[in-house]
Amino acid sequence: ARKGRTPEEVVRRYLQKVRNPPEEDCTICMEALAGPSGYKGPGVGGISRAESVGRLSQCGHQYHLQCLVAMYNNGNKDGSLQCPTCKTIYGVKTGNQPPGKMEYHVIPHSLPGHPDCKTIRIIYNIPPGIQGPEHSNPGKPFTARGFPRHCYLPDSDKGRLVLKLLLVAWDRRLIFSVGTSSTTGETDTVIWNEVHHKTEFGSNLTGHGYPDSGHLDNVLEELRAQGIAEEDCLR
Ligand code: NAD
Ligand code: ZN
Ligand code: ZN
Repeated sequence: ARKGRTPEEVVRRYLQKVRNPPEEDCTICMEALAGPSGYKGPGVGGISRAESVGRLSQCGHQYHLQCLVAMYNNGNKDGSLQCPTCKTIYGVKTGNQPPGKMEYHVIPHSLPGHPDCKTIRIIYNIPPGIQGPEHSNPGKPFTARGFPRHCYLPDSDKGRLVLKLLLVAWDRRLIFSVGTSSTTGETDTVIWNEVHHKTEFGSNLTGHGYPDSGHLDNVLEELRAQGIAEEDCLR
């Protein structure tokens, strides 16, 4: 396991002991917290007692330890854990974005709705490749359509803040993912992850253009949901 810890050790770091589980169901396996975990898959045998229950230290949500370990094993095992109920992130969340390049520069034109500033153009480039163990079909090729993808932000204070946070998201492999495109239906292809980008400059034919007065605030909220917040970057 990465960082020299087993999945159970990673999960336990974020948990407090629960001696008397409440009369509620574990929302991962839908079985009573007071009884054994309903998880029957591989990878948890012998590592913990099936009836152990833990409370996540920040949000307080409770689950079978075995269910949290199984959930962790289903992800990309990066040392972080996200509460499936309230999405609180423990540790630093990373994604499975394939290798590629992120570049940006300022262009001397204004976006619709932002007449008083220039524009930041971000260029993402990801080539096709082979899926790794962090993807759903390891060893299988993935395609990469429509690259380089160009995206636009106003070159304002808030736009530059969003850029700074997007650079962090890129390093944490959270901008793109590999999966099924909801636009084209193609499987095993590079897709946008959960952070919206504007890919049209002077028009809004796709709905992914300007003007959109709420865009920067939406992106800040989506970045926060990935564990990337303004406060963390000021440190
Ligand atoms: P997707 O369709 O699975 O959608 C994932 C998220 O990305 C959604 O939130 C969606 O709203 C957003 N999204 C979809 N189209 C977008 C766009 N044009 N600009 C900004 N955000 C967009 O994700 P995907 O398959 O990565 O996105 C589809 C887009 O990828 C196409 O619109 C196109 O730009 C590009 N593409 C190009 C080709 C090509 O051959 N040129 C092929 C496939 C996809
Ligand atoms: Zn459970
Ligand atoms: Zn929670």
